[in-house]
Amino acid sequence: MRRFSKLYFFVVLVIIAIIVYMFVSIDKIENELRSNIQNIFITQAKSLASNIETKLKRTYPEGISKKAFENLKKRIQLQESVELLITPVYQYVYVLYKDKNGNYRYFVDGSPFEERGEFDQKLDVDKSKWDTVYDTRKDLVFKQNLETVWTTLLHPVAYCDETELIVAIDFSMKLPLEVTETIEPLKTLFVYVFVAIAVLVLIVLFQIFSSIKMKKQSYIDPLTGAYNRNFLRDFITAHDINSFAILMVDIDHFKQINDNYGHKVGDMVLRDVAHLFGECLRQEDVVVRFGGEEFLIFLKNEAKNPEELLKVVKRLHATIERHSFFYDGLVLKVTVSIGVNLEPHHFKSTSDAIKHADELLYTAKRTGRNKIVTDSGYQQRCENNKKSIYETKEALEEGRILCYYQPIIDAKTDTIVKYEALVRMIDKDDTVIGPPFFLQNILHTNLYNELTKLVVHEVFATIKRTSNAISLNLNFSDIVDEKLFKIIIEEIEANKEVADKLTVELLEYEVLENYENVKKNISKIRSYGVRIALDDFGSGYANYTVFKEIDIDIIKIDGSIIKDIETSEVLYDIAKSIVVLAKSLNIETVAEFVHSKGVYEKIKELDITYAQGFYLGKPEKMDY
Ligand code: GH3
Ligand code: MG
Ligand code: MG
Repeated sequence: MRRFSKLYFFVVLVIIAIIVYMFVSIDKIENELRSNIQNIFITQAKSLASNIETKLKRTYPEGISKKAFENLKKRIQLQESVELLITPVYQYVYVLYKDKNGNYRYFVDGSPFEERGEFDQKLDVDKSKWDTVYDTRKDLVFKQNLETVWTTLLHPVAYCDETELIVAIDFSMKLPLEVTETIEPLKTLFVYVFVAIAVLVLIVLFQIFSSIKMKKQSYIDPLTGAYNRNFLRDFITAHDINSFAILMVDIDHFKQINDNYGHKVGDMVLRDVAHLFGECLRQEDVVVRFGGEEFLIFLKNEAKNPEELLKVVKRLHATIERHSFFYDGLVLKVTVSIGVNLEPHHFKSTSDAIKHADELLYTAKRTGRNKIVTDSGYQQRCENNKKSIYETKEALEEGRILCYYQPIIDAKTDTIVKYEALVRMIDKDDTVIGPPFFLQNILHTNLYNELTKLVVHEVFATIKRTSNAISLNLNFSDIVDEKLFKIIIEEIEANKEVADKLTVELLEYEVLENYENVKKNISKIRSYGVRIALDDFGSGYANYTVFKEIDIDIIKIDGSIIKDIETSEVLYDIAKSIVVLAKSLNIETVAEFVHSKGVYEKIKELDITYAQGFYLGKPEKMDY
């Protein structure tokens, strides 16, 4: 299409250039023709004047004396000869002499009878011109005023270097004018042709542009501005799909957004997610809205380097995760799951390659959502995106394992009362990686103990530096692991003067059977003033016997209950019952996953002690 437009413009330009050239040429030809005709007339007039001079000199060989004036016969003969020279072009031919007073008077006049000047009759002339001819004895041609379109030739007749007579010929310049008149219609015709072509060009241009626009529109999904399936069809046929990686991206739990906030908000999320994709990607990457909340992305893979590509995918994933979507007082967080087919060339057809990306997306959904799953060939090499033990060790040694802190708010006073420390790995490309991607692989290694020690150490350092109360996450299994427990206690002991600012949030309590060790170790921790919180309470099977066995200070109500509390009566009632239970046991409560104002209001209504979530503050570095 673009090539065609260029050719079209070139042809149009050439045609316009030809027309302009012809128009200018005609103008030039006209001018030349006119000046040539004028020259011919002047040359002829000059030879007429010479002929008259010859005749005069033959008639009056001695010059114009008084005798000559008196010889009427000779003058009449002369006049008859001059009369013969009159033509429609040379209409006035006359001979004047200059009297003693410097006035010019008729000697003979060959002009038409009714306009003929009498002998001796004075003629009013432009004296300066006539005198010049008289004195210089040179021909002079000059134009009369424009209306009459006359040109006059003055030709001196001299005897012995003395001018005695001047032959004057007035000739019409109508013919050169007629040339102009003949050519004028031709010029007008050219102007018409030019205008007609210009109009035609405009019409064709308009049609080309509107057809391009229509074609473009038929390629675009109106809601998100991403490409649609029409485009996908043409794109697949026109491009070598092997030079791309294929991503299938789906928004997690999108239905809940529709259900909780309405389709309008759902639409806005779709639109904004598509825009975020656009911002993260390069010109040569292609985003297609494949289905409702599913996007197909073709990532240009010039370097053929899976690591590089995965960086782009991670950036895309993290951008969506970090972004807060603001709509009329609502603040939403969205995550996406991504299936990445890095090697589409392994597949028989493009649709097979896309199908594979979809299968990988399905794996991402099935294994917890909010993650990137790459195709199996690559997966083997990078262990399903998880960091290897070696990579985590390297990160630990290089100080790239650190804590982010998320504020916990007192729901009564709306003030920050403490922070939850959340461990993060900063990847070499500065992407921030959450614990699911590196903790699992090191769980049963020494590295895990080292990492835990580092986290406890860092948390205490932060407490001392900022005087903030902080909670950190541990598993029950950490508490019962003798080696690890020793490390934890050593850290607490070393910081016992601020231990009362620490809360330990414990996970995985449902599976506990033998409480003996747990009880003993938790008592030990509490003896320093450290508070104990039950994390994710309400997810899975809530094991209530834990309250009988262990002294608990705080219950953290699981995000799966809180996040939909606004819309689900059941969840609201569950939260309410947890609050009742907690109060009766004299335990404080924390609501996690408070992602909107509405949810926060419910938390206050339920008299939950603390609240935490993206609406109130994201996990961030605590640099001060
Ligand atoms: P999952 O994490 O498994 O992807 O869950 P999900 O809720 O995101 O996926 P599911 O397929 O269950 O629901 C997708 C919803 O997207 C259902 C459909 O009503 C909604 N949807 C599809 N197209 C549009 C649209 O154009 N606008 C809005 N607002 N919703 C849409
Ligand atoms: Mg979805
Ligand atoms: Mg937690």
